[in-house]
Amino acid sequence: MNNDNNTSYEFDANLICDFFLNTERQGPGSPEVTLKALSFIDNLTDNSLIVDIGCGTGGQTMVLARNAPGTITGLDFFSGFIDKFNNNARKLNLYDRVKGIVGSMDNLPFEKESLNLIWSEGAIYNIGFERGLTEWRTFLRTGGYIAVSEISWFTDERPAEIHDFWLEGYSEIDTIPHKVTQMQKAGYIPVATFILPENCWTEHYYLPLVKTRKIFLDKYAGNKMVEKLVEFQLHEEKLYNKYKAFYGYVFYIGKKI
Ligand code: SAH
Repeated sequence: MNNDNNTSYEFDANLICDFFLNTERQGPGSPEVTLKALSFIDNLTDNSLIVDIGCGTGGQTMVLARNAPGTITGLDFFSGFIDKFNNNARKLNLYDRVKGIVGSMDNLPFEKESLNLIWSEGAIYNIGFERGLTEWRTFLRTGGYIAVSEISWFTDERPAEIHDFWLEGYSEIDTIPHKVTQMQKAGYIPVATFILPENCWTEHYYLPLVKTRKIFLDKYAGNKMVEKLVEFQLHEEKLYNKYKAFYGYVFYIGKKI
């Protein structure tokens, strides 16, 4: 779901949700990368309040929870994801301090200046990087952190085919220095930036989708929308393999000043 954009808005949201319910992750990432991003964040205690925005079924949230103290709230639009999130938290005996809630990232139900850490992997594009950084900042305490992963260009120039594909999908896609400047302008110290390794796309995102697509195509045999969704995904994966030198996901970690 890393490209839930203009092109895939044609797809029914519930259908996409049903599809991704069968996957551990709904976007590129890995436990190693979550831990690496977490390593830049200090001062968390048992009293810390952490929020994971656009948490999906909570693959990364549970990694976070096992490695950070404090209370963690996962927030997502889709109730199906949140049900699965809460089941996972219960199964892992984390439910006393890890809970999922249904909500929207453009209307967060938290108190201003109350959070120690805002986490968001592969989801801020839904509100837009700049808007998300600015609006979410009001919920952070001074000295609190934000850690988000976001699709970014690696180079100043790139072939037209991939340039046009992403610009149509997410017009805010930009280079890493540009995103870092946006973070600084939004009122954060840019603490760290790193590119997610290729295996976050291949091993942790695209590979599990092969099985999920099979199950899905069987379940919805003959459904044209489903066939289109699968076709779109395969096209996106093909483009990734062809142009991965030019773009990818990047973690941006900032501290509110
Ligand atoms: N963080 C997860 C999921 C990323 S996919 C992972 O890395 O695997 C993006 C997620 O954002 C989806 O779960 C989608 O349901 C959620 N989302 C999209 N628009 C949203 C909104 N307006 N408010 C809250 N969540 C939203």
